[in-house]
Amino acid sequence: MHQPDPHQASESTTACRICALGSDHPGITIDDQQICNLCSLNQVEGLLDNYRYTSEVFAEFQAAAPAAGDYDCLFMYSGGKDSTYMLDLFVNEYGKQVLAYTFDVPFESVHAAQNIALAREKIDATFVVDADDDNIKLMMREVFNRPAPAKPGRYLDEKLPCVSCRTFFVLKAILWAYRENIPYIALCADPQQILTMESNVREVVRGFYKTFGEQLTGTLFGEQLEDLLFDEDENLPKIVFPFIAMRHDYDPDRIVEVLRAKGLYESSPLETHCTLFPLLNYYSYKNWGCMFYKLNASSHVRSVKRNADYDRNTFSIKFPRSLDLGEVDARLGEVVMAIAKGEGQRADHEATLVALFKRMDASEDAARFVARSFLDMRSVASELGIRLDD
Ligand SMILES: [Zn+2]
Repeated sequence: MHQPDPHQASESTTACRICALGSDHPGITIDDQQICNLCSLNQVEGLLDNYRYTSEVFAEFQAAAPAAGDYDCLFMYSGGKDSTYMLDLFVNEYGKQVLAYTFDVPFESVHAAQNIALAREKIDATFVVDADDDNIKLMMREVFNRPAPAKPGRYLDEKLPCVSCRTFFVLKAILWAYRENIPYIALCADPQQILTMESNVREVVRGFYKTFGEQLTGTLFGEQLEDLLFDEDENLPKIVFPFIAMRHDYDPDRIVEVLRAKGLYESSPLETHCTLFPLLNYYSYKNWGCMFYKLNASSHVRSVKRNADYDRNTFSIKFPRSLDLGEVDARLGEVVMAIAKGEGQRADHEATLVALFKRMDASEDAARFVARSFLDMRSVASELGIRLDD
């Protein structure tokens, strides 16, 4: 077997025997059968309520009469295949007047404008691109540099920088819809995000204040958010989650087929990815002892174990059928922390990382590409003013 694993098996920590999530993972508890709350479905009731509410709001949106203003909805458009598919459906099947809103995230490798050129030509919507580089970078620096939330933490705390980035641009979209009097906001959220995605815009705003405090929130957004907090419900936009409402139909291969037939898809070797990915892993290892994708990977392991025929991809990431998650997680953590501290040899780290990513089903090229981005972690951090020293 392997040498002792620094990330597991301390006396107070156990791992779920189905999905390998640890008892110290934020939001996770493990019972005396050594099964976690996600595997034993303790959350199923709250989950069903969320699904029911999401489906109701979506049905209400589909049936709604045209809005009084110029647009029936603000559609958060990333330019990826899922959101392109849904944008086309909203405009051409549901007949909605759509403002396609793209937030240009400065951490994405390929910028928004390049992604949306094809859709602009073929889909009859109004396209806008919004950006706020200085403020989103300021917020990210703050998330990384300050202490993590107190243990035991809440669900998704290990992904706090990623969740914060997303919440930042959802707030920008909410403010845009509010100013322009657009009654609905469509968000192509992953079905896995249902536990934490807030459908009520006032709650999204409250959550941000709670995480970042009044002072920083004021610096980032001025006083605009306060207007939202104190306005009447009927003046606030509602958020709809079309993919969650239609979750049973989600099929990535069919989406690509449909987009190809409509000339809306060009496969590109330059898939958009986040340049902060290595730092997101640093954050989750440093504060929570797990890799950034632990929850996604454990959800995959759970599905495979429940259903031997399971071969559907999770929403956006692929994992191999068999994955020794506990071990891959621990090895990756050792390399990430060594790189962060500037220890060890570049070539050794690269070889280890390539082997690990291949075990997670990456091709040789993809594994090498991602490995190199990890090796650059320190320079990306220093450009953004993120401190890696402990
Ligand atoms: Zn589990």
